[in-house]
Amino acid sequence: MATTRQPLVAGNWKMNGFAVSVSELAGIIEGAASLNGKAGMMVCPPATLVAAFAGRAKGTVLAIGGQDCHAKENGAFTGDISAEMLRDAGASAVIVGHSERRQYHAETDADVSAKAQAAWRAGLMAIVCVGETRDERVSGKALDVVGTQLAGSLPDGCTTANLVVAYEPVWAIGTGLTPTAQDVAEMHNFIRQQLVARFPAAGEGVRILYGGSVKPANAKELMGVPNVDGALVGGASLKAADFMGIAGVYR
Ligand code: PEP
Repeated sequence: MATTRQPLVAGNWKMNGFAVSVSELAGIIEGAASLNGKAGMMVCPPATLVAAFAGRAKGTVLAIGGQDCHAKENGAFTGDISAEMLRDAGASAVIVGHSERRQYHAETDADVSAKAQAAWRAGLMAIVCVGETRDERVSGKALDVVGTQLAGSLPDGCTTANLVVAYEPVWAIGTGLTPTAQDVAEMHNFIRQQLVARFPAAGEGVRILYGGSVKPANAKELMGVPNVDGALVGGASLKAADFMGIAGVYR
């Protein structure tokens, strides 16, 4: 029997947005409802806006996520936020291991794995990001690099509900560049094989998102690639019209 995976289109707002941005959610909530369950939608605002966004999205099909969490539940970690705090603010998921966290905060695969476990401890879905740099792709190491990241960043104990993997080539994030559909297909097929080998029960049902310069103009092609179960969208998720131009491919 073929496994059905509900696609997910998640927006990563990064360090963008003020209280006034909650008004942008109206169009996203309306758009999410118009998908009639053919795909799920999520917005991951900065931590300052999680509670306000979750309050606005309550009772709708739009999910709200965080962009990072600390591995510990609480303690003397100035400036950090725990998975439990995100949950308390109304989030149902958290992105961990985004390349900007790996690059600017020196997060290792072990750190990412600990954060994913923290997400599960708090009852959040973990969106675990992996992806190679330009040099790694050019030198033919993309699959090896992503395989190593997966092995180190994914804790044991995943289910189809608590884990989403996002393949985000670092060189495609915010650059307007994207891999070819063939390269995306090869990588997503590779990630699927890794998931199935390591998690025989859940691997086939875990969703694998593509992220990196997804726009309304390229969404149809990218989302049509086998084993691409949706998108993690940065810049184009800030405006409801652009974000729905992407998620709308699932209507
Ligand atoms: C991201 O930051 O996760 C991302 C995919 O960004 P962008 O869509 O802007 O490339």
